[in-house]
Amino acid sequence: MNANASPAKALEKSVVRQLERAVGKDSVLWRPEEVLAFEYDGTIERAMPQAVAFPNTAHQVAEVVRIALDAGLPVVPRGAGTGLSGGAVAALGGVVVALTRMKRILEIDAENQLAVVEPGVVNLELSKAAEPHGLYYAPDPSSQRVCTLGGNVAENAGGPHCLAYGVTTNHVLGLEVVTPTGDIVELGGRTGQTPGYDLRGLFVGSEGTLGIATKIVLRLLPRSEATRTLLAIFDTVDEASEAVSAIIGHGIVPSALEMIDHHVIKAVVQAMDVGYPDDAGAVLLIEVDGLREAVIEEAIEIKEVCAAEGAREVRVAEEAAERERLWAGRKGSISALGRLAPNYYVLDGVVPRTKLPDVLREVYKLGEQYGFPIANVFHAGDGNLHPNVLFDERIPGETARVLEVGAKIMRLCVDAGGTITGEHGVGLEKRSFMEWIFSEADFAAMANVKAAFGGNDLYNPCKIFPTGKGCGEVTQTKIEHVMKQAGPDAYI
Ligand SMILES: Cc1cc2nc3c(=O)[nH]c(=O)nc-3n(C[C@H](O)[C@H](O)[C@H](O)COP(=O)(O)OP(=O)(O)OC[C@H]3O[C@@H](n4cnc5c(N)ncnc54)[C@H](O)[C@@H]3O)c2cc1C
Repeated sequence: MNANASPAKALEKSVVRQLERAVGKDSVLWRPEEVLAFEYDGTIERAMPQAVAFPNTAHQVAEVVRIALDAGLPVVPRGAGTGLSGGAVAALGGVVVALTRMKRILEIDAENQLAVVEPGVVNLELSKAAEPHGLYYAPDPSSQRVCTLGGNVAENAGGPHCLAYGVTTNHVLGLEVVTPTGDIVELGGRTGQTPGYDLRGLFVGSEGTLGIATKIVLRLLPRSEATRTLLAIFDTVDEASEAVSAIIGHGIVPSALEMIDHHVIKAVVQAMDVGYPDDAGAVLLIEVDGLREAVIEEAIEIKEVCAAEGAREVRVAEEAAERERLWAGRKGSISALGRLAPNYYVLDGVVPRTKLPDVLREVYKLGEQYGFPIANVFHAGDGNLHPNVLFDERIPGETARVLEVGAKIMRLCVDAGGTITGEHGVGLEKRSFMEWIFSEADFAAMANVKAAFGGNDLYNPCKIFPTGKGCGEVTQTKIEHVMKQAGPDAYI
């Protein structure tokens, strides 16, 4: 959404009253100064909703959806608003359905190793609640202290430990969903079996465009007997990225394999004491877990592979406190970027692992060409890049140039045989890039899926699809604006 888009029209009083009757007077915001905080998520896209409703039950969610539908207003589901593709931004205004008050952990079934939760439960809270049972919830986005499980389901979130354990979809057994028409349906169940169409699988990762998850059944995993965390220190990004493929090429699949480059290290060491060497070109944070003997052997093997790839030092952390200290640097890395620049623009591309060295070299080159430092911290084992373009949006014209370099990075990923998102979703931000990878027939099939769930142009509008009624002119994203100015061949 561009910041110049006209503010959404005030909501008719009668609609406000209906919403207040549905969820309670203190659970609806509609004055401009109240809804202002809901105009953005974690991206640079912005648009004002006309109202924000905070339902407490699935029936209240369904009622809010029906009220908006009858009034011809867009509906936009929202969790914690940490999304990085503009998915929770109310592109055409309308009613934001904020799920943050539905935050009860309804059940931990230790014997069947599952949990039933409401969508507003914060990711990390589930693992904390499961801990006394020796269990935990594996997908661990770096935003896990804040983001909600509903948002994770919608984005099919990943995280450092998804390399070995799989992303969100591998851990969702069942869902209760309010459809775009306000019906309540069950997808999947408690067993992981889905006779007939796997609508559960279809819903996970649908970015809030097929309905609102109001209850989620999640798989829990037993905690490992032993864990080792390694910090492999390299003088260059090239050596570190070659080591990523070498480790997996040796037949070892660590539970996590993350890369942190020199820009990010610089930010992290200024912000916290986590023991990263401030003169390194890059570090790899590698974790192995499982049975004690296997873990010890794997750690030794990884150490040898890293040394052979040029690591100048490999530290091994055994104790929980030591391991947590290393992870604090990784998990706090994005917020630490504030030490380097007032703004960052985070990208999310995927490339085949073996292409990492080449693509990273090109990314840095683009940074130099445009005069922006590009800081890289990412899930290297999955080939899931997160270049962060550092800039100052107060400088006139900088945001447009940042978006231009971002589009070029996305194109690099596609040309390398990869794709435009690994975990942050398409949302508003990357819908123009969808045409690089999908045909008209592909889009028609996707539109049929949305329609089959009852979704129309007003249901979380302007997300995923490159075109949409009312989205072209009124809701032109900054990226689209830049692309139009630069011409059709600008990024190829
Ligand atoms: C510092 C930082 C680090 C991050 N690290 C990671 C990472 O490692 N891995 C990763 O995958 N992501 C990461 N993210 C992105 C983000 O945290 C995830 O996409 C997360 O899943 C979003 O959850 P949320 O509750 O904030 O959702 P929101 O941002 O509120 O919404 C995201 C999308 O989900 C939809 N939605 C929300 N709730 C529901 C619901 N109940 N039913 C249907 N649709 C819904 C919204 O409409 C929107 O499209 C990071 C973000 C930040 C800021």
